[in-house]
Amino acid sequence: MFKRIPGTKDILPEEAGGWQAIEKTARETFSLYNYKEIRTPLIEEAALFNRTLGNSTEIVQKQMFLIHNQEDLYALRPEGTASIVRSYIENNLDKEEGFVKLYYIGPMFRMERPQKGRLRQFHHIGCEAIGSQDAALDTEIIGMAKRLLDNLSIGGYSIKINSLGCSRDKEKLSLSLKESLEKEKDNLCQDCRLRLENNVLRILDCKNENCRKIVDKIDTGHSTLCPECREHFDKVTSGLDSLGVHFTVEPRLVRGLDYYNRTVFEITHASLGSQDAIGAGGRYNNLVSQLGGPDAGGIGFAFGVERLILASPGEKTEETKAAPVYLVALGDKAKTAGIKILDRLRSSGIKCDTDYLGKSLKASMRRANDAGARYVLILGDNELENGNISVKDMTQGTQKETKIENLNEELK
Ligand SMILES: [Zn+2]
Ligand SMILES: [Zn+2]
Repeated sequence: MFKRIPGTKDILPEEAGGWQAIEKTARETFSLYNYKEIRTPLIEEAALFNRTLGNSTEIVQKQMFLIHNQEDLYALRPEGTASIVRSYIENNLDKEEGFVKLYYIGPMFRMERPQKGRLRQFHHIGCEAIGSQDAALDTEIIGMAKRLLDNLSIGGYSIKINSLGCSRDKEKLSLSLKESLEKEKDNLCQDCRLRLENNVLRILDCKNENCRKIVDKIDTGHSTLCPECREHFDKVTSGLDSLGVHFTVEPRLVRGLDYYNRTVFEITHASLGSQDAIGAGGRYNNLVSQLGGPDAGGIGFAFGVERLILASPGEKTEETKAAPVYLVALGDKAKTAGIKILDRLRSSGIKCDTDYLGKSLKASMRRANDAGARYVLILGDNELENGNISVKDMTQGTQKETKIENLNEELK
């Protein structure tokens, strides 16, 4: 018997309702801000991710699902932003519209050691606004992330924000960190000793306890921000204040990917334990030009759907609700007539079902009751001859006969 690959998950019908509810709320929320859906392929050239996420990042070094195709090297997408910026440039969205607001929903793939809260196929709901460097956009998109959580009735989250500054500021920050951390090199974890050489910012969010202690002693502050980046950040924070969005400024928040600059943010949720980020995002002002497009700013975020589900109270969608009408047809003639009756009900938008296992009247009634049907229709050959059908109201316990031709009206 075949089994799922470790790190993947079947979403069974009883869970799928929760997924649909989250996706529906996300679409409605994003639409309020005029975002439109984009769907890009699940596979891309591997080089797209190497170049944009950064060669020294864990994703590129250890976590990409690679597909060798003769000369070419493809990868299952580990995240959404790079693909969407690739698509923005390739489809000339920059020339046609200049500024676009896009959202996406779909699976991402990372070859991680499977553990609680970390899957190899996981799902993102995310947004990208490409073509503007305006600080008001940063405010709006963080406000939108908050609104989505509120609309999903998810409470107990906290929003952390930071500014990495422009590339020059980031460079300055890296150098000053390197200088302070060099002295502590022997006390850093193995990964961080490597990071010291090729991605020193990542040391700031290392989860190792020793590394944390060392980092906590360093004053990261915002001393490396240039006046323009400082002003941008001030506008973002005062904008969030004016929207009443609660947040904390977290100078050690870096987000691991190379393409981020200026604003970065992370939303954590207490119920998720050590893997507590429910969503995150940031600005990537150089990414479009780096991929051969114009000098256009951009900002985005993504929520992990599995994590939203863990944190959300869960509501049902139409699909997972019981069929309110259940037909029990007894005898061959009644069964044949029943097919047409069900079809007419569905034409009127009435959700209904019947028995396909040839069960007795008693067993069918029990099944209808267990399935939560409000009305059970009973059709036998006798009733059929008179053009009648019995309607049993399961909540009232009453039963009456009615003309088949009037059934739709009665049930409405
Ligand atoms: Zn700057
Ligand atoms: Zn470390």
